[in-house]
Amino acid sequence: MADVLIIGAGGVGQVVTHKCAQLPEVFERIVLASRTEEKCKRIASQLARPIETARVDADNVAELVTLIERVRPQLVINVALPYQDLPIMDACLQTGVDYLDTANYEPRDQARFSYSWQWEYQQRFKDAGLMALLGSGFDPGVTNVFTAYALKHHFDTIEELDIIDCNAGDHGQPFATNFNPEINIREVSAKGRFFENGAWVETEPLSVSKEFDFPAGIGPRRIYLMYHEELESLTQHIPGIRRARFWMTFSNNYLKHLEVLQNVGMTRIDPVRFQGVDIVPLQFLKALLPDPASLGPLTKGKTCIGCLINGKKNAQQRRYYVYNICDHEAAYREVQSQAISYTTGVPAMIGATMMLTGVWRGSGVFNMEQLDPDPFMDALNKYGLPWTETFL
Ligand code: NDP
Repeated sequence: MADVLIIGAGGVGQVVTHKCAQLPEVFERIVLASRTEEKCKRIASQLARPIETARVDADNVAELVTLIERVRPQLVINVALPYQDLPIMDACLQTGVDYLDTANYEPRDQARFSYSWQWEYQQRFKDAGLMALLGSGFDPGVTNVFTAYALKHHFDTIEELDIIDCNAGDHGQPFATNFNPEINIREVSAKGRFFENGAWVETEPLSVSKEFDFPAGIGPRRIYLMYHEELESLTQHIPGIRRARFWMTFSNNYLKHLEVLQNVGMTRIDPVRFQGVDIVPLQFLKALLPDPASLGPLTKGKTCIGCLINGKKNAQQRRYYVYNICDHEAAYREVQSQAISYTTGVPAMIGATMMLTGVWRGSGVFNMEQLDPDPFMDALNKYGLPWTETFL
């Protein structure tokens, strides 16, 4: 049984806290801390058992160290924003505590995310005998585990990997994002990038698309090629991979709004002087858009996220698809959040369980595909994200 400190009381933080609270045999004591303690208290009030709350500015290492020393957890679960990854890792090193997150580090002033900054912590975590688990959400996270599972059980070599993320849900709002709007729009408006024959190929934002026929009654939807962080680690850790791509669905309505916002400069991340104050347009836009947490009771429909894999087993060519279907309304009934937060928060809780029970153990910085996928795959079925596999 362990004490855990969760940092970040947004959409994902709410789900992680609910799911950890459902497992007192692993998470004996839960402390939820965030920049706005009121949000922690609101989440605490939804739970069947008491947890503690705290206020912390996770950009400030000294504040984090004080909090961690007071709480003395075995693990810090970081579900704040990607900007806070490095200060929280620094604080974990200073206090001798394990670390887990769901998104890789991104500097505020460049829309560029990469594992390189966090991989630089490898030796320091190793020397301290500590474990950092990176990207324990759905994508990255479960998609990495799906790929490792496919390699372990169904392929001698994986040649082509397509990660396909479909949100077929509808929230009825003219324009809203399913997770933090600033992070979402930075990701979607960036150039596309995929890996082919040992090199990265860059594409204009959302310029490559095709139809994909989704299971579970979702049917055909247009998917758009994007760059996504798990491509960086999977192309390093899956030997012999020839091509790796990431695709996501967007409604025409979402794309229309995004295009207009981009055209008028509202997605810019550099400060603009307005009436004597510096304003970052994208941060201002975030303040205007619906809080993703408010979409929970409104969203209907399903998500389908999975990996489509081509490769060889016993010299035979194979095509394999593994995916999860998550229902927005079912997620809301269970933890009062929509499926995007649910599909991220559940794997964060499972990753934490793997670490705290010693099933996944090691010193250093790890991506999900570097660890045994089997216990994680079992836990997905057990804790609310069942998966289906099929040979095509
Ligand atoms: P939200 O914006 O809903 O929540 C972020 C939370 O972090 C807010 O409570 C916010 O506080 C808090 N926070 C922000 N800055 C600080 C700070 N300096 N100190 C302390 N707390 C801070 O985001 P989501 O819950 O949607 O996303 C959380 C994380 O999950 C993100 O990193 C996102 O990229 C990642 N994610 C990963 C996915 C995956 O599949 N791997 C999918 C979706 C998201 P405040 O309320 O005061 O603003």
